[in-house]
Amino acid sequence: MLAEKLIVRDCPSCSTCNRGQVPFKYSEGPWVIKECANCRFVYLENVPVYAALQVELAWESTSETEREKKQVSEPVRQFFSSQIKFLRKEVLKRDKLSALIGQYFHAGNVLDIGCASADMLSRLDERFIPFGVEISEFLAAEGNRRLKSRGGGVVQANAVLGTSSFESNFFTGIIMSAFLEHEASPAALLKESFRVLAVGGKAIIKVPNYNCIARVARGKKWCGFRYPDHVNYFTPGNLRSMCESAGFSIEQFTLADRYFLSDNMWIVLGKR
Ligand SMILES: [Zn+2]
Repeated sequence: MLAEKLIVRDCPSCSTCNRGQVPFKYSEGPWVIKECANCRFVYLENVPVYAALQVELAWESTSETEREKKQVSEPVRQFFSSQIKFLRKEVLKRDKLSALIGQYFHAGNVLDIGCASADMLSRLDERFIPFGVEISEFLAAEGNRRLKSRGGGVVQANAVLGTSSFESNFFTGIIMSAFLEHEASPAALLKESFRVLAVGGKAIIKVPNYNCIARVARGKKWCGFRYPDHVNYFTPGNLRSMCESAGFSIEQFTLADRYFLSDNMWIVLGKR
C-alpha cells in the first residue's frame, strides 16, 4: 500500500540514476537513502507523491509523530534541546530570518514557500505584501484566514506548481526556511523561484547542513534525518552549486552561515 504512494527518484542534483546502487547506511525501514555514485549527493530515493502530503503524510502530522518518538527514546536529550531552542528564540532573540529579511528585502511582494499556517508571513511589517505556497490543505486554509487583511494569500499546491502560478519578476523577496530539504524536485523549484524573483530581489534559504559535526558524531540519530519528511541532504558545496545552476548569484554565505557546529545553514541569493 505504501509503495503506491511513493515515486523513485534519480539524483536531484545531477540526475544520475542510482537504482542499481546499494542503500546508503542512513536508510531506515522502508525509506531508501542513496549517496549518488556520480556527485555524492545524499537523498531519499523513494519519496511520497505530492498527493499523500496534502493530508495523510502532511508535515503537521508526521512531525508530531517524530517528536513523540524522540521524546520516548531520548527524553533527557529532547528536554535540553527544547530548552536551548527556547532560550535562543525567546530570550536571546536570535531570530536570524527576521534579521536577514530586514537587511536584504525591499518593500513589495514576498513569497514564503512551504509557509505552513503563515506564521512568518503574518509577522512581516506593512512594507511587505505576504504570499505563501503550502501543500497541506489544513495549514493553507489557516494561513489564508490569517492573511486575509493583508492583500496577499496562500496558494494550496505543491511548491513547484504553486510557485509557477505567479508571473515572472513578481516578488522582491522569497523565503524558503526549512523547506528545500522537503522538496522532491529542488532544482526545478529553485529555477521557478528565480523566474518569479524580480531583478534586484533576494531569496533566503535555510536547510539542515549534512556536513555538520552532529551528523558525523551522531550518525542516524542526527536531528536532520527525518523519514520521509527530509528528502534532500545538502552540503554547503552542493547547495551553492544547485542555486547557481538555477541562475542565482550568491549574496551571503559566510563561514558563520555554514558553521559546522550548527545543524543548519543559511544562504542569501540574488537575481542580478
Ligand atoms: Zn548526483
